[in-house]
Amino acid sequence: MAETLLGPAEIRDLAARLGVAPTKKLGQNFLHDPNTIRRIVAAAALRPGDVALEVGPGLGSLTLGLVGAVRHVHAVEIDPTLAEALPETVTAPHLTVHRADALRITGDRFDPAPTMLVANLPYNVAVPVVLHLLAELPSLRGGLVMVQKEVADRLTAGPGSKVYGVPSVKLAWYAEAKPAGKVPPAVFWPVPNVDSGLVAFTLRQPPAGATRADVFAVVDAAFAQRRKTLRAALAGWAGGPGRAEAVLRAAGISPQARGEALTVGEFAAIAAAAKQAAP
Ligand code: SAM
Repeated sequence: MAETLLGPAEIRDLAARLGVAPTKKLGQNFLHDPNTIRRIVAAAALRPGDVALEVGPGLGSLTLGLVGAVRHVHAVEIDPTLAEALPETVTAPHLTVHRADALRITGDRFDPAPTMLVANLPYNVAVPVVLHLLAELPSLRGGLVMVQKEVADRLTAGPGSKVYGVPSVKLAWYAEAKPAGKVPPAVFWPVPNVDSGLVAFTLRQPPAGATRADVFAVVDAAFAQRRKTLRAALAGWAGGPGRAEAVLRAAGISPQARGEALTVGEFAAIAAAAKQAAP
């Protein structure tokens, strides 16, 4: 990483020069700690041939770390002032800045195709951004994202955990996710009132037998009433509790189980059994 990374003084000067007043609405908490940048880049385990996709480059703290580590960096920034200023801070020829909303961007915007998602995400939209990009970009092989610690716990939780839920199962459809450390509030400006957590993930083959949309419909139904048994929680989705019970039995899952106990493979088995049972 040969580039000079941004410390507190540089971040303050840059923000003052650009007239940037960070907004909560866009989750603007900028990293001003070179050690944290080095830690994120190391945890991402990037290869020199990788193409990184960074969502929300902000003032360029992480972007500067990424351009030294990969073949190409795509940076998607919604704030026009920050998007316009980024090439002045990060002068690398292998950086493409996209002034766009990461929640709406389509995969065909990126050439070369991204292989790694590496981002300090805007916390209010972190989960939808990750799920949207995983759906849009089959070229990804993995990623490392920083999110609110609570969200990191949810994204990496397994069946049986109190915080296992829709984000955990949907991310598990695409990838194997692991916690990769905690980050304290002091490394950001402005200082947020929450801890942050790193999540590393590696793409894998999704479970066979059912489409993503069909599986996600079962997951949404099961967790909409997470305290109920699957027989009850899936009644609306299946067309009645009797039909839900029949589908669950066909999938080899107890109708008395709760969604929070099932793996993504088991949710896929339910979706597959429902398809088989469809008239
Ligand atoms: N990467 C920088 C850093 O670590 O210092 C900034 C991270 S800050 C937590 C989140 C960034 O995401 C901000 O620059 C914000 O403007 C941008 N952002 C917020 N919502 C966005 C969206 N929907 N699409 C793209 N960028 C977004």
